[in-house]
Amino acid sequence: MIKLKNILYMISLIPLLSLYYPLTAQADVTPFCDIVIDVGHGGIDGGTSANGILEKDLNLAVGIKLFNELNKKSFNVGITRIDDFTLSDDSPFPTLSRHLRDLKQRKLIADELNPQMFLSLHVNWSKNKTLRGPLIIYQVTEKSYQLANLIQDQLNDYYGVKKYPQKGNPYFLMKHLEMPSIIVELGYISNYKDFQILTEESTQDELAMSIVRAIEEYMLLYPAE
Ligand SMILES: [Zn+2]
Repeated sequence: MIKLKNILYMISLIPLLSLYYPLTAQADVTPFCDIVIDVGHGGIDGGTSANGILEKDLNLAVGIKLFNELNKKSFNVGITRIDDFTLSDDSPFPTLSRHLRDLKQRKLIADELNPQMFLSLHVNWSKNKTLRGPLIIYQVTEKSYQLANLIQDQLNDYYGVKKYPQKGNPYFLMKHLEMPSIIVELGYISNYKDFQILTEESTQDELAMSIVRAIEEYMLLYPAE
């Protein structure tokens, strides 16, 4: 069950009310949101894991830090979950697979809030334990590519690596969202060094701050219309 009251509280945006209560007087309010943070996985969907640590919890920890930091900078921010629950339970499409219900629910939130950017937070895993560092996957549009580059650069600096963003054609959200949309793979849970960065509070803060700096750079390039 989606924690609707929590989401409404965290987003603090009237427009979301019209998502769930389309017949109320709120429906004519124009949605305005700068950024939607999409916290990957949740509930029974733990995502990847290592040493008993689940990806869904790391996505959430960094997601909430990012949400708080962006709010401090006076951005209007939405977030798809602030607790450990699965979005698929709240889906109006009960016959679809759980995975597709989950993705469609994220798209519904994105469409309703109509942000300038949609950032999905995830954590990577590989059999090859030496693979490490952040990886940004972008929708094939100019704005998504610019945003991906800026975030990749900031996170590369923090990790001390040199990696490049990748095109994200096959991903559902990339194909179906109409705003710049990227997936931020924060690091490899399967790598020892990355694992430390992903799981410690102070380094999670640094990851969030790196993303904030990149978003500020992006907003200078593409100010809100
Ligand atoms: Zn994931």
